[in-house]
Amino acid sequence: MNNFADLNLAPEILKALTESGYTTPTPIQAQAIPMVLEGCDLMAGAQTGTGKTAAFALPMLQKLMPFATPSPSPARHPVRALILVPTRELAIQVEASVKAYAKHSHLKSLVVFGGVDIRTQTPHLRTGVEILVATPGRLLDHIEQKTVQLNQVQMLVLDEADRMLDMGFMPDLKRILALLPKQRQNLMFSATFSSEIKKLSSEFLVNPKLIEVARSNATAENVTQQVYLVGHDEKHDLLAHLLRGSDAKQVLVFTKTKLTASRIARQLHREGFAADAIHGDKSQLERMQALDAFKSGKVTVLIATDVAARGLDIDHLPMVINYEIPSAAEDYVHRIGRTGRAGASGIAISLVSPDEAKYLVEIEKLIKCQIQRVEPPVKAKSPAPRAESRPEHHVHIRAPHAPVSKRPVHDAWFNKPYEPTPGKMIETPPVVQTSKPSGQIPALFMRRKPVQPDAED
Ligand code: AMP
Repeated sequence: MNNFADLNLAPEILKALTESGYTTPTPIQAQAIPMVLEGCDLMAGAQTGTGKTAAFALPMLQKLMPFATPSPSPARHPVRALILVPTRELAIQVEASVKAYAKHSHLKSLVVFGGVDIRTQTPHLRTGVEILVATPGRLLDHIEQKTVQLNQVQMLVLDEADRMLDMGFMPDLKRILALLPKQRQNLMFSATFSSEIKKLSSEFLVNPKLIEVARSNATAENVTQQVYLVGHDEKHDLLAHLLRGSDAKQVLVFTKTKLTASRIARQLHREGFAADAIHGDKSQLERMQALDAFKSGKVTVLIATDVAARGLDIDHLPMVINYEIPSAAEDYVHRIGRTGRAGASGIAISLVSPDEAKYLVEIEKLIKCQIQRVEPPVKAKSPAPRAESRPEHHVHIRAPHAPVSKRPVHDAWFNKPYEPTPGKMIETPPVVQTSKPSGQIPALFMRRKPVQPDAED
């Protein structure tokens, strides 16, 4: 399948795709779109980054086209398609994609998620929307407040179903499913096929067609992976060194805890980097501001925990750094899936201290390859860039091996617990240097350890 035009999509949708710069369907799109158009239930194994959103959104829009109407009457715009997702960020991104694909039709979409005042969402719901993207908890709040009716839903999508189960949404999902019309089409997307996922699919899918995009994810093949074996105390200097030595405009840095994320952001910020942190302790507004600033290039280094980073879709993210590697090997796959998307190449660097070596073994077992080891520079220590020489942003600094002395950090702030503050953005420059490609990520269908909702510490 080389062309979207071969997929029998309406001219309004094709026009939007052309404007989005899409020329060729991705493998999951080529497989899923005809099946969804036929009306089949679907169980699709696909990671974020494979184009799975359009794989369900495009045929969904196509099927809803007969209902599109310019009428302003809310009664003419009942919710006909419901897309459930595990996180707020993913909800925002999925709805933004749906909106972009639907922009030349009269189909309306809306996103609702927790963490913001429910009253701000109600008036929009009342105007009527055909496609509703929601996180389960907030949808139930709306159902309880009778601000949404689901009795006309004819399509249901469970996106990142494995994440939803991991995050404990099963009871919420069951409550929601019980409220939907029995006669409907169900689509389930999951990066992994655990026994729980299979059980869930047997409960709510009817004779589903199964799609697995190649286990050796084409996206991940574009990602160069590297490991630096370093002492824990050397990590910050190495991080700053890597950032300075690279010309990437955006770097996503992962930490295990919210506290570490805040500390690193604060320290990098003091050292002149345009850094900010995104994690579950931050308000939705702060998270959105940080993400927007990162996307627009005002923030070049975003420090995130796994929970906060779930569902982040940043086009052509060139570099991901694991400041700490995750203890659940599957999270490594998800983290590095943030780079190398939609055919772009990327680099994923992991800073591994001796106490994390056991996790590295698990990761390499899972991805079935040894990640390239890179020698840390003799002393990766680097000073803060001089304020007067600091350019605005997107200026490429290449001084990776400059010998410098480490400034002791005696800021009392570093011993304080995190307190949310309005998202800060500093203008500064960026990063990235890559080297030889190493491993690939062949295994995407595996079991993941349970994570509590927004449990990051
Ligand atoms: P997803 O897996 O849905 O999160 O999509 C990952 C990224 O790929 C998003 O930035 C999409 O806009 C982009 N994308 C999806 N389908 C295509 C396509 N057929 N051609 C080019 N880019 C695409």
